Amino acid sequence: MPSPLAPRYPLVLVPGMLGFVRLLLYPYWYGILGALRRGGATVFAVQVSPLNSSEVRGEQLLAQVERILQQTGAAKVNLIGHSQGALTARYAAAKRPDWVASVTSVAGPNHGSELADYLQRHYPADSVKGRLLSALLRGIGALMSLLETGYRGPKLPVDVHASHQSLTCEGVALFNRQYPQGLPDTWGGQGAEEVNGVRYYSWSGTLQPGKTDRGRNLFDGTNRSCRLFAKTFVREAGHCDGMVGRYSSHLGTVIGDDYPLDHFDIVNQSLGLVGKGAEPIRLFVEHAQRLHLAGL
Ligand code: CA
Repeated sequence: MPSPLAPRYPLVLVPGMLGFVRLLLYPYWYGILGALRRGGATVFAVQVSPLNSSEVRGEQLLAQVERILQQTGAAKVNLIGHSQGALTARYAAAKRPDWVASVTSVAGPNHGSELADYLQRHYPADSVKGRLLSALLRGIGALMSLLETGYRGPKLPVDVHASHQSLTCEGVALFNRQYPQGLPDTWGGQGAEEVNGVRYYSWSGTLQPGKTDRGRNLFDGTNRSCRLFAKTFVREAGHCDGMVGRYSSHLGTVIGDDYPLDHFDIVNQSLGLVGKGAEPIRLFVEHAQRLHLAGL
């Protein structure tokens, strides 16, 4: 029986760079799908090219949205994208606003990632270091696609260079010129609530010493990586989740931008290891209720 608090339209969860649906038994949206389904929502975790441009990923997403609309008989979907998944969802909504009720950016680099800028400066694509990094990413991507058990579909194309360009501040600025829907007019501000009939939302976290590096995150390698990556930030030094800056994440209605969550905690990675007092799953459950109340 559908829950009276469930969103009207299916939720489609879109992963970030090097994203997946499930590696062997291990899900990307750890504990999140189950919690949303217990709340009565219809939820799909989709896969798009783990390493490619937001435009290529966005076209793949549209193909999957079309299938979901046919399968469920729903008129629209709610897109929720983590990291590059947010840009992917924004592209899809810009192209087919008639298919999309809302776009929610979860730690999305909506104005680019300073980590990607750092890598571009220190590991340029035509240098030995750059080629090694690119080979490493391709290797990780290939290994992950071997372990993927949640996606059944055609082989997805890989373009490491396009993937990287889609995440730098310069690359995202170009993307934003073509697909500005929901972006704030001023740095640190909020964006339009609704554009072309699509509602826009965002939330994100920041590294908070004493909180995000404590609790169960003490044992979490991805939190250590985020602390290291955070050192590459200049403009938003001290105000980032390790991969995305606080203000860079803003899109549409900003639900919150300083939750004590690193870039992986925000989707309950790894294995639900998060810092002291953090509740990433609750943010998704509350958002499903928010979408329901907005009639979406
Ligand atoms: Ca963690």
